[in-house]
Amino acid sequence: MVKITFLGTSAQIPTVRRNHTAVLLTYEGENILIDCGEGTQRQFRKARLNPCKVTRILITHRHGDHVFGLPGLISTLDLSEYNKTLYIYGPKGIKRFLESFLGLDYVKRNFEIKIEEVSGAFFEGKDFYLEAEKMEHGIPTNAYTFVKKGQRRIDRAKLKKSKLPSGPLLKKLKEGKDITYEGKKYLAKNLTYSEGDKKISFVIDTGMNKRIVPFVKDSDLLICESSFDEEMKEMAKEHLHLTAKQAGEIAKKSKSKKLILTHISQRYDKDIKGLLGEAKKVFKNSSVAEDFDKVEI
Ligand SMILES: [Zn+2]
Ligand SMILES: [Zn+2]
Repeated sequence: MVKITFLGTSAQIPTVRRNHTAVLLTYEGENILIDCGEGTQRQFRKARLNPCKVTRILITHRHGDHVFGLPGLISTLDLSEYNKTLYIYGPKGIKRFLESFLGLDYVKRNFEIKIEEVSGAFFEGKDFYLEAEKMEHGIPTNAYTFVKKGQRRIDRAKLKKSKLPSGPLLKKLKEGKDITYEGKKYLAKNLTYSEGDKKISFVIDTGMNKRIVPFVKDSDLLICESSFDEEMKEMAKEHLHLTAKQAGEIAKKSKSKKLILTHISQRYDKDIKGLLGEAKKVFKNSSVAEDFDKVEI
């Protein structure tokens, strides 16, 4: 099971109900934090989670509501004798920004921080991988997907064409290993496919663009920003954000199974029904995240 915990669900300004953006994905030994808005480490405590278990941090972009929690969290990890390498990933330019923002060149810490600027597939775990795609938000911004790989199966049609004999060689292919037969090399990725993948997508802060739908295609869970409602769609366009309706359209077009809206403006703090209704009209299986909501996929 992949577990998602919403640690913060507000847009630019936090409210009593909603803290700045942060989502935690827990799977096996991995605790992957997506964005780290101000106060995220305290949200961990309130959720009865240990921030020292964080293994990787995926930053969508360097706007304050997505990164202002990093210095505090990192300082707590240091005081708590965090002893792993902390991996932080982000879009182009994030390395230089964080080096200065976190004082990496002059603050001595007891653990190592590795920052990588990523696009495309950038990390492969035992049975999952992470991907990044460029979004449009005025500054370099990434959307992310987490894909847990299902079972690898032989593509029978391709196998027939290849004229490979059945037997132990096919077992190797099923394990994802490339094989050589009569001097010719056969790549596992060309003759097999993965069935039963679980995909979770994070689209946080972006204007509508043509890269979103293909990137989040067939998500089991799409977590998508929804900063504005239909009435404010011009504002959304101008500030490069999405409306609830657009989030619904992305979920529908990408054939995602479930949509959760987040990055909610304080404007809708008292009444979220209108915003949710607009997404539901287009995509029925929609909901709005609240701080500390948990979902298992
Ligand atoms: Zn934001
Ligand atoms: Zn932003």
